[in-house]
Amino acid sequence: MTDDVALVRRALEKFPRISLGHLPTPLEPMDRLSEELGGPRIWVKRDDCTGLSSGGNKTRKLEFLMAEAVKAGADTIITQGATQSNHARQTAAAAALLGLECQILLEDRTGSNDPSYNFNGNVLLDQLHGATIAKRTGGADMNAEMESLATLLQSSGRRPYIIPGGGSNRVGALGYVNCAAEMTEQAQVQDLKIDALIHATGSSGTQAGLVAGLAGLGSDIHLLGIGVRAPREKQETMVYELACKTMDYLGMGVEIDRTSVRANCDYVGAGYGLPTDGMRNALKMLARLEGLLFDPVYSGKGLDGLIDQIRKGYFDGMENIVFLHTGGSAALFGYPEIFDLPGYQQ
Ligand SMILES: *Cc1c(COP(=O)(O)O)cnc(C)c1O
Repeated sequence: MTDDVALVRRALEKFPRISLGHLPTPLEPMDRLSEELGGPRIWVKRDDCTGLSSGGNKTRKLEFLMAEAVKAGADTIITQGATQSNHARQTAAAAALLGLECQILLEDRTGSNDPSYNFNGNVLLDQLHGATIAKRTGGADMNAEMESLATLLQSSGRRPYIIPGGGSNRVGALGYVNCAAEMTEQAQVQDLKIDALIHATGSSGTQAGLVAGLAGLGSDIHLLGIGVRAPREKQETMVYELACKTMDYLGMGVEIDRTSVRANCDYVGAGYGLPTDGMRNALKMLARLEGLLFDPVYSGKGLDGLIDQIRKGYFDGMENIVFLHTGGSAALFGYPEIFDLPGYQQ
């Protein structure tokens, strides 16, 4: 372990943490994809393999968030997300594992009446893990909804702990500070020089943690988030502000450079959770070239951005780039019709 990795690890040790994930996750080459695209060698950091209820990026955040909840003496976890939220599913599983109740508010951001979207995929798993789910209409003030649920639970003697959407606050972002240190150490062991790291960015905790972690490591890895919801300026501001808060919390005293926060939001399509042709093609391509599964809302759009930017020469001159696989394949079962496959009958 180099000094920089040790320093970041030491900064993280100050915080309570419960082990929930199978870490380190593998860092593997995608050689058939690299050959197909003819650009830099592409690697995948397998955070879809964190192990918790089919895995995903929320597991790393929950290691720190759930430890806070337990420390606060909570008996009930409240969180929120879109109907097919991967965050809600991983939170439900973590709560089950720790013997806590879990209440999830699901915001109907797409207006879909499709039974698969509303009851299969992540929604099925939320309920299998014993979480209580309740729906809210799209555009509802979900933070206010969680607060009023917490007040209600408190009045009946419960001790609720609220986890924000996506687990994205300075506590959750520590999980991705940890990922930055973990991946850096892996690359050192494999004698691999990583030039760039690309991933889907939504509620911003993943990217903010990576920005803070890479800054703390003194790393020159070029980090690029592919947006799935907000326009670029808004996304970058969200990431930058949370990265600064995370660095303050971490207490390493390293300044976050605003130019290290980069989001490309050209792959959102018509909106959050709405399929695009680029996502469909990218997702099918990886399923067939690498045997890997991605999701329609986040990692599939992230892949679309990765592939398109490789083709446009964005990574020209770079040798090794890593796609952070943030998980989400459980959501595929919430959207079975969108791939228009011959075997699927509505
Ligand atoms: C939540 C999520 C993301 C985005 O992570 P944020 O920290 O919310 O930006 C990316 N991919 C998947 C599969 C997710 O569930």
